[in-house]
Amino acid sequence: MALRLFNTLSRQVEDFVPVQPGRVSMYTCGPTVWNYAHIGNFRTFLFEDLLRRWLEASQYQVLHIMNLTDVDDRIIKEAGARGVSIGQFTEPYAQAFHEDRRWLRIRDATVYPKATEYVKPMIRLVEGLLAKGIAYKGEDGSVYFAIARFPAYGKLSQLDRRELKTGAGASARVATDEYAKEDARDFALWKAAKPEDEAVGAAWDAPFGRGRPGWHLECSAMALDILKREWNEEVLDIHAGGVDLIFPHHEDEIAQSCAYTGRARFAQFWLHGEFLNVRGTKMSKRFGNITTPRDLRADGIDPAAIRLLVFGTHYRQKMDLTDESLSAAKEGSRRLGEFAARLDKASPSDADEPAPFVKAGNEFIARFSAALDNDLNSAEAIAAVFDLVREGNRLLDSGIQPGPTFREAWRLQDGVLAAVPDVVGTGRSFIPAFESRGEGEVLEPTPPTDASRVEAWARGWASERLRARSARNFVEADRIRDLLKRHGWEVRDNKDGSVGVVRVG
Ligand SMILES: [Zn+2]
Repeated sequence: MALRLFNTLSRQVEDFVPVQPGRVSMYTCGPTVWNYAHIGNFRTFLFEDLLRRWLEASQYQVLHIMNLTDVDDRIIKEAGARGVSIGQFTEPYAQAFHEDRRWLRIRDATVYPKATEYVKPMIRLVEGLLAKGIAYKGEDGSVYFAIARFPAYGKLSQLDRRELKTGAGASARVATDEYAKEDARDFALWKAAKPEDEAVGAAWDAPFGRGRPGWHLECSAMALDILKREWNEEVLDIHAGGVDLIFPHHEDEIAQSCAYTGRARFAQFWLHGEFLNVRGTKMSKRFGNITTPRDLRADGIDPAAIRLLVFGTHYRQKMDLTDESLSAAKEGSRRLGEFAARLDKASPSDADEPAPFVKAGNEFIARFSAALDNDLNSAEAIAAVFDLVREGNRLLDSGIQPGPTFREAWRLQDGVLAAVPDVVGTGRSFIPAFESRGEGEVLEPTPPTDASRVEAWARGWASERLRARSARNFVEADRIRDLLKRHGWEVRDNKDGSVGVVRVG
């Protein structure tokens, strides 16, 4: 069984064969850091995280590049309105992106290049295209890509030339600087500096005139520069992003990159994730504008449940975020957490694992792997996980103990889906930011005398502390930390953004 992926270039599921055996280069278009990325953006990032994790579980070495766009029209406008530089304006949003990403357990990319740190390679790329006569300087001082001189244009989006001229995509492109271009379809590689760019530090010197990079140029230049530096290559194995990026963004990336390198392809595989819609009147009534991971976090939703929810739908299908789907994911995630705790407590039987556990483990590994190898069929992979839980519970009920094969099966799914919530008391403790309490229930400053309720008390305060912290009330957060400490509990901030309490006294 080998990995097969749907390639937007061919509109077919193809055998995945990397340029070099054993390793995969992967470029994923990152956020424009001008506000908080919403859950729809994060659906794409989660799909890419699943892809990355599955490649690594399949023993590939992965070079994962994800850019942060920290210069564009919106950023310049917002920074100008606030009287700050683009760097000052974008930095908090870049940090927020990483915070949200870690909370959702999205693995660190190998490198997160920022556009403003790669202006030199962008200038080199423009110079190369000018030298080849594929780019030209317009009357407005900007540099444009001449689509007429790149015959392969339109291959990815499968728009033919006529459509490009008259279709909806073309008219959207023509919005600005129409008269400066030779052809309405041409797009800007480099935009001549304007006073408002200078005011916020968004202008750089270049041999072809002072200005700033266009968005499409950023991705090509950063991908090619890092790929060359790291692996001395010019063709990516995988380029991924949301479906909305196919045209014009990815089409333009291909045009610039291939025209520059002279290679037939910029990436062997183009993968695109579908949209997530937030729907359902109940949801909008109850949660209001629930659109970013921080909104979900503030509502006490476990990141494990969000992962389970997102992976429950194949990445190429549209999905709706509704009250019902969210509750189902929470319930599913809770069941996974319970089973994880039960498995942790089960005594080891490394020497001689009972045959039913070996069989369950092996069958699971085969089914789970086949599902993900089949164009990342995560919905089927999750179905296999719940069957494993059911069988595992049944076997544990019968009094036998799991061994290495069964535990390996569990670790495999945990490492790829990361959809098991952390459970208090097992060293995997996770406290939702707003743990629900019963109506009128008051959190006392001293622990209850009933020993069975002490842990719930500590969790309650840890949750209060998170609430204080997310309201940026750090004095209160510290006070709660000290209160817990006095009663023998320590709050631990986990790397993935979750929090746990551990009894230390
Ligand atoms: Zn891009």
